[in-house]
Amino acid sequence: MHRIVFLGPPGAGKGTQAARLARELGIPHLSTGDLLRAAVAARTPLGLEADRFMRAGELVPDELVLRILGDRLGQPDARAGFLLDGFPRNLSQAETLDRTTKLDVAVSFDLPDRELVRRLSDRRVCPTCQTVYNLSSNPPKVAGRCDRDGTELVQRPDDRPEAVANRLKVYAAQTAPLLDYYRRHGLLRPVDADGTLDAVAARVRSAVG
Ligand code: AMP
Repeated sequence: MHRIVFLGPPGAGKGTQAARLARELGIPHLSTGDLLRAAVAARTPLGLEADRFMRAGELVPDELVLRILGDRLGQPDARAGFLLDGFPRNLSQAETLDRTTKLDVAVSFDLPDRELVRRLSDRRVCPTCQTVYNLSSNPPKVAGRCDRDGTELVQRPDDRPEAVANRLKVYAAQTAPLLDYYRRHGLLRPVDADGTLDAVAARVRSAVG
């Protein structure tokens, strides 16, 4: 059974590595950011409420995040394990998770701020299939178009410089304290997130065991 949490600042590569590892382990990849973006795109009441927090690079209120994640965690495929990406993001979310689930490991992604900012400004995503590209390290085959479905790539609104600065601040203030929390619980496995996709994937794989 694999019950895994990925922790780390925005831009560290959690999402890309999570998609890969989850596929390899045959467990669902649960990204609260993706779930929230899908709700925004579908213009559900929850999505409409979450949107302004996300655009500003603020955390979405716990109550909304827990509602959307609770629904997803309750589905049958999550019974045999899961990989949580982008949750928990503060102490109260971590404590809520602990009350319902016993985690196996928390992998934290380490990367210096200047590299995070560079990756976030180079990131482009496909609005149709959510595939993530990086203009310098992992560009699409045809400039500006998704390799899978040819959709025009876009920049996430919260990857614009104004929101990025705030997301890094929010991470340091609210999410970084979770590193200590999971260290005290004996679950933390730090990973150097600098390097190629393959190099980081190998480190993540051995951290998970
Ligand atoms: P991400 O795709 O993980 O970078 O998340 C994008 C945005 O969604 C964040 O900047 C937050 O506004 C929101 N978000 C995602 N996960 C959470 C969470 N666990 N708690 C609060 N807000 C979240």
